[in-house]
Amino acid sequence: MRPALLFCALLAASIRPADLFGAPNDASRLVDAVKRGDTAAVHTLLRSRVDVNTDLPVRASDLIGLIAHETYPGHHLEHAWKEADLVDAQGRLECSVILLNTPECLISEGLADIGVQFASPLEGRADLLIEVFERAGLSFAADPAATREVAEISIAISLERERLSAISGNAAIRRHVDGRSHEEVAAYLRDVGRYPAARAEKALEIIEDPLLRTYYFAYAEGEALLRRWLEPLPEPERAARFGRLLHEQLTPAAVTVPD
Ligand SMILES: [Zn+2]
Repeated sequence: MRPALLFCALLAASIRPADLFGAPNDASRLVDAVKRGDTAAVHTLLRSRVDVNTDLPVRASDLIGLIAHETYPGHHLEHAWKEADLVDAQGRLECSVILLNTPECLISEGLADIGVQFASPLEGRADLLIEVFERAGLSFAADPAATREVAEISIAISLERERLSAISGNAAIRRHVDGRSHEEVAAYLRDVGRYPAARAEKALEIIEDPLLRTYYFAYAEGEALLRRWLEPLPEPERAARFGRLLHEQLTPAAVTVPD
């Protein structure tokens, strides 16, 4: 087994909280790491295969969110439950198809981004991050005090970094609405968004793709939509409401809280 595969599999297993959202019987996770010039990570239905693009740099501190997004309680669990509940039990075959640039993408990407707060709450994430840094072989990980400090700083700035991720939507607007050049928008992603150069180029490749150019909005806008739906509830009740997203084909209108 390749080290990257083993690492991702262990990480996927370790972020799963016991029975918080359950899983259909055969919804085991399978994680693979490949080198190919596709998006950062892609998953497919039910018996999911997650391809992690190892050509692009990934921050070690982002791996927890990445695995939660793609597997548990993100895309894999959502589609495993919907396959079981909606397709197999109710015969709703339309739910076995995922269409890009549709309202379900807003829900799906939003829940995948927001799910990490249930899989690995910030309060308890330091120990997991320390394990990630050690397994990744980062130079500072030889010093336990320094490793804990980096983990705590990563957690302290995580909410701001999440907000910063919405910059990909700004970049799309700059490119298509403001007519900025490829080079100008790449510089914006690097300088303001703190993207490594290779990741800025990959983001622009998606932004400039005729089919995918609006897709970045599904992440930040989907997450914001679901936060407005979840956060008015007392904290102990939010996981149950989040769980509805895994079992029901809710539309954005169904989860929109009136102003
Ligand atoms: Zn996704």
